[in-house]
Amino acid sequence: METMKRVRVGVEGGLHARPAAELVRLAKGFEAEIVIGAGTQTAPARSSLKLLLLGVKEGDEVELRTSGPDAAEALSAISGFLSGGAAHEAAAPSASIASGASQAPAGEFALAAGERPAGALKGIGTGGGPAIGPVFHFIQPALEAPAGPTPPEARSAELEKVEGARVRLLRQIHEDAAQAASPQARDILTAIASLAEDADWAAAIAAHVADGQPAITAILAAGRETAQALAALSDPYARARAEDMDAVARLLALAVNGLKPVSLADCPEGAIVVAEDLTALEIGSADLRRTGGLICRNGSATSHAAILAKAFGIPAVFGVADPENKLAAARTVALDGTSGLVYPDPSSDVAETFKARCAQARAEAERLSALRDVAPVTRDGTPVIVAANIGSVKDIELAKEYGAMGVGLMRTEFLFLGRTALPDEEEQFSTYRTVLEAFPGHPVVIRTLDIGGDKPVRGISVPQEENPFLGLRGIRLCLANPALFKVQLRALLRAAPYGDLKVMLPMVSDPAEIEGTRQLIAVCEAELTAEDKAFGSFDLGTMVETPAAALIAHDLAAVTAFFSIGTNDLTQYVMAADRMNPSVASLCRTNHPAVLRAIRMVAQAAQAHGIWCGICGEAASDASLLQIFLDAGVRELSMAPASIPRIKQAIGAATLSSPPQTP
Ligand code: PEP
Ligand code: MG
Repeated sequence: METMKRVRVGVEGGLHARPAAELVRLAKGFEAEIVIGAGTQTAPARSSLKLLLLGVKEGDEVELRTSGPDAAEALSAISGFLSGGAAHEAAAPSASIASGASQAPAGEFALAAGERPAGALKGIGTGGGPAIGPVFHFIQPALEAPAGPTPPEARSAELEKVEGARVRLLRQIHEDAAQAASPQARDILTAIASLAEDADWAAAIAAHVADGQPAITAILAAGRETAQALAALSDPYARARAEDMDAVARLLALAVNGLKPVSLADCPEGAIVVAEDLTALEIGSADLRRTGGLICRNGSATSHAAILAKAFGIPAVFGVADPENKLAAARTVALDGTSGLVYPDPSSDVAETFKARCAQARAEAERLSALRDVAPVTRDGTPVIVAANIGSVKDIELAKEYGAMGVGLMRTEFLFLGRTALPDEEEQFSTYRTVLEAFPGHPVVIRTLDIGGDKPVRGISVPQEENPFLGLRGIRLCLANPALFKVQLRALLRAAPYGDLKVMLPMVSDPAEIEGTRQLIAVCEAELTAEDKAFGSFDLGTMVETPAAALIAHDLAAVTAFFSIGTNDLTQYVMAADRMNPSVASLCRTNHPAVLRAIRMVAQAAQAHGIWCGICGEAASDASLLQIFLDAGVRELSMAPASIPRIKQAIGAATLSSPPQTP
């Protein structure tokens, strides 16, 4: 069987290393031949390198062809992944508490772009604020290849050396990934491993060895060829993968020579790492939180190293121009991750200023981290819950680290997307139970499956729709597929005894949808009772995301236990402005009077019916809207974990206007 489909790529940032590696993993689950075509080029979905070389960007249209026994299933799963349903979205890096320092008031050394004071070098700052400390020069051992060609009789032994080293290297990368200091580092190492095990690269090395090149020369040459092809792409993310390819080639060459690479783990605590290049592999296998800062002569803001530095809030500057090679001899260095300025061996004045700024940044970070266990109340004594939005159990740790008071939105669709089979009741039960047990004494709001025609999931058939965002998505899709919905509801009922579970329905536009769900819950309860399976109960809430739900908030409040306003969708539907379309971004804003009026209507209806009202869209972490939300009667805000301390602080500084404003 052969199938074909054109797909608009919705994967964030396009097919760069991590999604390419995920796509390869997904493709390997099928027997079918899967080929992706972009422009005049095609790539098999089992080669992450070839996928990268397609240079597919977010928004591009690709042609997906599958052939073989499970071609239809492969087409559905891969097109679902390509159109944006990848689990890797959950791993997007988020700023850490320490990154709050980068938002500290600009100091004397935070200059306008392009300005460079005396004694300073300039690069691209990736945030993290100021740092000063002793230098840790990070220099890898030199590589030496034998001069002259390998005699023909020694070439197969040369190739065996390469293969042996490749197996050892891959084992090491996988071990590092298993012990990675963060989910982001683990994802990056996994993507690097997929480059290292790429069959095309191995074939290119073998071809060079067969031509008589010594192993090291062959590895570096094959790595360079691939890196150059990647570097020629216009997408900065794909270009940054050229760095990864060179790095992997160097590591393999070192392994062939029996040399161990220098590790960032050798960096003394608090020292500033100064490197020529800092590869994702080097950075991913160390605990960055121990380093005081990073300076890299090469590297871009989109390199893995920069992404990880940002995720940990480490002051970092990449691409530092150093024509006189001052950094090579420096013993102390000061850097500003905000302005991108670097001072090798700073003068005493500069050093003093940096020390003062570092102390200020530390105090700010400490002040915010001190809020970790704080349950914030406004100045006039109104408590407000600040909870986390999570996509999987992987996010629990981060949410707790930032002091989440429970979960205000768990997007369960991440359990269903980008995989080959639907999660069964046992898997869902165990996931929900894990989340509930992670937040004892706090509410955990789990949203039922929110997918639709734009995000096909293998095993769920959705008709082709002209306008999927106005189609069979969210609760509409679940009610149209009771067998699918019941699996989730049964899992939720069984998980309920393990914590304070609340369940909410996405995309509600009519009270009949709440009623329909209650009827299914009753069926599930009867089944579980008959099967003698333990279960509990949960509050059933409504996500307010459609203008209809806002306009009939009073009717919905009468049949529901709580409201959580999904400002991302509510804004796009109220403003009729696609939330993904940058050309209407100026209209798609939550602070528009029309959206704010809708929010006030909803919060007021909740108050009138004695139910609580929260916000779980992006706007929940917008401090400039906090006062409006609180005055409207919103008492729960749920957001990306890294934003929690800042919003807790803002709540502590707010005073409610009384009585709540009317629409
Ligand atoms: C929202 O629409 O605001 C929301 C939280 O849901 P999602 O972003 O998952 O659509
Ligand atoms: Mg939504």
